Amino acid sequence: MESLTHSVESVGAEPDSSPTSWQQQMKSAIRDLAELRKTLELPKDLTGESAEATFGVFAPLPFVRRMERGNPADPLLLQLLPTSLEDTSPPHFTSDPLAESDAVLGPGVLKKYTGRALFIVTGACAIHCRYCFRREFPYASNSVLGAGWDEAVATIAEDDSIEEVIFSGGDPLTVVDDRLKALVHRLGEIPHVLRLRIHTRLPIMIPDRVTNDLAAMLKATRLEVVVVIHANHANELDDEVAAAVDRLKASGATLLNQSVLLAGVNDDASTLVDLSKRLLSIGVLPYYLHQLDQVTGTSHFEVSVDRGKEIIETMRASLPGFAVPRYVQEIPGEPNKTVLA
Ligand code: SF4
Repeated sequence: MESLTHSVESVGAEPDSSPTSWQQQMKSAIRDLAELRKTLELPKDLTGESAEATFGVFAPLPFVRRMERGNPADPLLLQLLPTSLEDTSPPHFTSDPLAESDAVLGPGVLKKYTGRALFIVTGACAIHCRYCFRREFPYASNSVLGAGWDEAVATIAEDDSIEEVIFSGGDPLTVVDDRLKALVHRLGEIPHVLRLRIHTRLPIMIPDRVTNDLAAMLKATRLEVVVVIHANHANELDDEVAAAVDRLKASGATLLNQSVLLAGVNDDASTLVDLSKRLLSIGVLPYYLHQLDQVTGTSHFEVSVDRGKEIIETMRASLPGFAVPRYVQEIPGEPNKTVLA
């Protein structure tokens, strides 16, 4: 198995334009458990060093500032805090539970579903989510950044069944605007590609990442653009995030949110109702609530499907239908995601 290659090496390929540029904020993210504990005044007996050695800490400061100091159970903190609970994993939690290695169409391109292809733009992220389903994805041989770029675009061009390209990763918005613009331009030249979907946590982690240049690029492409952000809790969505979302909206992009159902973070109806209401208030539609993928080291986040269905039922009683996300699970080999509720 190849080791995890989440990193920020694709960032900083261009000079920072100001001390508070988003690239600078990536560089100043907390990357050390001891520093995270100190910054948030957490109890010293929290252990997680062995988990940290497997999958390092990456905690951007705008996100850390939304956490409650001294609270080891803060729902934002739990998403990125290494813990000794990761050391014990049931055998059915594996490195590739979605069998993504079987879906590789070419380097950096995965085709799981008809008409859509995932473009693994980079392995870099603006947060290291402890529950990440690609914690152990072999990014070194499967990201299109750099040498693989031409081949990945050619792979898309050769398959005229692909109408939608999904920028995934890693987080595609860790790539600087000029490079993204060049990639979007090349995809826009492929006649059968109609839509571009971008899966990203960056507007939440570092809202300044939504630059005017990025918004202008999304507005200029002939492709229909859908941006799917990833928030799990209403506390993630402060006024800076709302402003970043406004900039994305101005580009004409459709905005959706996906969440993962996570024990201790959002596994109750009132938390998820609050999240849906907050998303609607900033102009983002709740899209998916994912059942956790069974990746090694993440079992402490798992919520049973029965409990998930109960939560969705309770949400339906207090929200309009369009504000209730589809509760889904990805099952390898299925032609689409399985809707659980
Ligand atoms: S942002 Fe997405 S790809 Fe990156 S660590 Fe989190 S869940 Fe994984």
